[in-house]
Amino acid sequence: MTATPEVDLPDTGTIRNPATGAVAGKVRWTDPADVPRIAAGLREAQKEWEARGAKGRAKVLARYAVWLGEHREEIEELLINETGKSAADAVQEVPMLIGITSYYIKTMEKALAPETRPAPLAYMAVKKITVHYRPRPVVGIIAPWNFPVANALMDALGALAAGCAVLLKPSERTPLTAELLLRGWLDSGAPEVLALAQGAREVSEAVIDNSDFIQFTGSSATGVKVMERAARRLTPVSLELGGKDPMIVLEDADIELAANAAVWGGLFNAGQMCVSVERVYVLEPVYDQFVEAVVKAVKELKMGAGEGNHFGAMIDDTQVAVADRHVREAVAAGAKALTGGERADGPGSFYPPTVLVDVDHSMPCMTEETFGPTLPIMKVSSVEEAIRLANDSPYGLSASVFSRDVERAKAVALQIDAGAVNINDVVANLMCTTAPMGGWKSSGIGARFGGADGMRKFCRQETIVVPRTNVGAGGNYYNNSLNALKRMNKVMTKLALARPRRTAK
Ligand code: NAD
Repeated sequence: MTATPEVDLPDTGTIRNPATGAVAGKVRWTDPADVPRIAAGLREAQKEWEARGAKGRAKVLARYAVWLGEHREEIEELLINETGKSAADAVQEVPMLIGITSYYIKTMEKALAPETRPAPLAYMAVKKITVHYRPRPVVGIIAPWNFPVANALMDALGALAAGCAVLLKPSERTPLTAELLLRGWLDSGAPEVLALAQGAREVSEAVIDNSDFIQFTGSSATGVKVMERAARRLTPVSLELGGKDPMIVLEDADIELAANAAVWGGLFNAGQMCVSVERVYVLEPVYDQFVEAVVKAVKELKMGAGEGNHFGAMIDDTQVAVADRHVREAVAAGAKALTGGERADGPGSFYPPTVLVDVDHSMPCMTEETFGPTLPIMKVSSVEEAIRLANDSPYGLSASVFSRDVERAKAVALQIDAGAVNINDVVANLMCTTAPMGGWKSSGIGARFGGADGMRKFCRQETIVVPRTNVGAGGNYYNNSLNALKRMNKVMTKLALARPRRTAK
């Protein structure tokens, strides 16, 4: 589990590459007292943005997507410098944003159009009912550091499409790429409906106090604080929080595929991914084969920042310390590290890929979010045991099940308490912009994406009811006789009872 330590920030900060210690850039922190002024500017600009309509905004988003495509290398270079990622990992973020934008520009006009709703009962057919999606003026987005590009914009794009202005508060550990993304927004000709507030807790709180909706991505512990703060003004929140995602490998699985999935899903981005494979349960008959395949694949990996490597540095030494503690405590309690097992020598915040076996749920490596390049694997004797252990967690973000029998895997998936389950793959649901991505239990409230919902969630719904005819208008008002009102209610009750009477037979 991660939670940014409380930090006092001077006016300007120097951000260092965690792989090398070299300066990645400087950032000017926002004075929390300035946040109301920034939010007021956004609130003003949002009016014209909403008035452009979905079609007008789609054009602007399309131009921004083109800018992202044209500046991909520049963004990725800064991303690698800011985070110490490998190039193989860094190249995933910009295409993901372009894909999301492409989906929204195709669907936003329809998703945001007023919807006609049918009459709930025959006598209500005299009314024409429409539901309108009106944007919340300022959406505050508070982001973590693990995917500084993707996390900055994957929700912001839906909010901007919806017609909201966005006040983005990147993680204080990775503020640089957000500055470049904002520059691109303005350079591509978009209006000033996207702004940054740079800083830590105090700036976050000011963002919460000055926004009309909060989209928070981060640890569960901070999510609780965000919701408490937002409750003061009854500001709605959507919380995308931590996870401890299980993988279940059944005895009829393609073991080679499952092993490679576990290695990629567990170690991608040095394991610093909310939907990372954090623990694996393997059925006894294929356990040895699976462990052998995982160890073989891990031994092939190259750890290091930039080009030519599989995965890179952790964000800083506090994250290395969490991974190190989980491994040490597991080994002290009887687990075995088949690879890695202790901090890498040399400079940089690196932790070697560590495959742990002989683990159980008395160990934090199986119960707490590690957010590091570790892969604890546990042998189980039955599918029921695997499901019970997968659900034995305060988290419920996502999971994966491997079996050649897809129907059997689906039956297992539907017994797992999580917002998404991938069959014979990992992380794939994150690319399914048409489906919701949200956590159960302490992994969150609400969801991102979900087709039209990915934009509508940033709107308030306004219902407009228009009479289709003037005949009978005001029949329920006080200016009618009391007897007429009684008669009318009798007729309405009779009509409303028709279906229950039929169905109850
Ligand atoms: P974090 O909770 O420490 O910080 C997240 C953001 O909250 C940062 O911008 C931080 O400045 C801000 N913040 C810190 N204290 C705050 C407070 N008291 N009030 C308001 N804002 C505050 O998380 P992190 O370490 O940056 O990110 C890692 C966590 O994020 C992991 O738990 C990971 O699982 C989770 N995560 C979840 C998803 C998802 O989609 N579910 C995606 C990525 C990361």
